[in-house]
Amino acid sequence: MIPYPARARIDLTAIGDNLARVREVVGDRAVLAVVKADAYGHGRGPVAAAALEKADYLGVAQVGEALRLRAEVGPGPRILAWIYAPGYDLGEALAADVDLSVGAFWAIEAIRRATSLTGVQARLHLKVDTGMARGGFDPADLPAAAARLRELEAEGRVAVIGLWSHLARADEPDCGQTERQIAVFEEARAAASRAGLTPQLCHLAASGGAFWHPAARYDMVRPGIAMYGLSPNPAVATAQAMGLRPAMTLSADLIVDRDVPENTGISYGHTDVTAAPARLGVVPLGYADGIPRAASNRGPLVVGGMRTRIRGRVCMDQFVTEIPRACQAGDTAYLFGGGDLPTADDWAEAAQTIGYEIVSRLGARVPRSYHG
Ligand SMILES: *Cc1c(COP(=O)(O)O)cnc(C)c1O
Repeated sequence: MIPYPARARIDLTAIGDNLARVREVVGDRAVLAVVKADAYGHGRGPVAAAALEKADYLGVAQVGEALRLRAEVGPGPRILAWIYAPGYDLGEALAADVDLSVGAFWAIEAIRRATSLTGVQARLHLKVDTGMARGGFDPADLPAAAARLRELEAEGRVAVIGLWSHLARADEPDCGQTERQIAVFEEARAAASRAGLTPQLCHLAASGGAFWHPAARYDMVRPGIAMYGLSPNPAVATAQAMGLRPAMTLSADLIVDRDVPENTGISYGHTDVTAAPARLGVVPLGYADGIPRAASNRGPLVVGGMRTRIRGRVCMDQFVTEIPRACQAGDTAYLFGGGDLPTADDWAEAAQTIGYEIVSRLGARVPRSYHG
């Protein structure tokens, strides 16, 4: 087998330590570890197993992800899934003991059908949109939704164990939006209670809410990015300042070394031309691997202990970088990781995106390995 010349090494101890840090911050709250999108590119199965040592719940977006996650973690651990579309057969999710979010009238009926067909009681988290115009019932519809769910509860078909929502601007601690959403959430709690529902788990906060909005912590928090050791918003606090450390280290073997004279055009479009003689290396990772083309000429690396950067445009499978004199093909180029390496948040800044996108878009063809 020809090995892939790049790899993402995942530090499972960092996953556990980051969750422990979240626990330290939120105190006596339950923690739902978010492992959607292949655990933000880190690999769902191994991350979920590590997370379960510190978390009470696992969360994924898609019902299909939840089914695969159940196969990976086995029976027992609680799993919440929150995205499915009209027409889905939700019976498999019920049979797999997956908690479902319910945030639309069509979803209530889809769940009712699935409970009839399977005879399995559905564990539900009632979702209300408190100010994001995304998923969940409009607050105005909540009384009717809660009343319908209460009927189904009385028939023994469902158990509404959660009431939840999501914050639009938790990563901007001073903007006032989170306080407004908390106020709407409080009204939703009252409406659910008036309808006779008794959800045991109220939850509103992802990483940003968990760290920066104590009043949003309720019974459970849902950290994703913090568990992976990145900041929801490095302009508010870097991951390091939050007591987190990156779980993923991305590196590759240089496949080319070459010395070039001044005035050498580099990569497609010659968007960079050397001003002086330079020593260049080629890194076998490109935009098909999730290296943003927007990081062309900017993405930071460490090669041979020296901080350097991409030169020229990122190509589909490779890019050019400047390397130290002593470096050659076969040496390792580090793109991001912990310690003194650039972070995925640094790459996000170089590509004008967020760290979430840097790690979660890492291509499937880059092998992941695990330690810790
Ligand atoms: C992705 C997601 C999270 C985790 O968000 P982070 O900002 O990564 O902590 C939590 N809750 C929901 C509903 C999500 O979609």
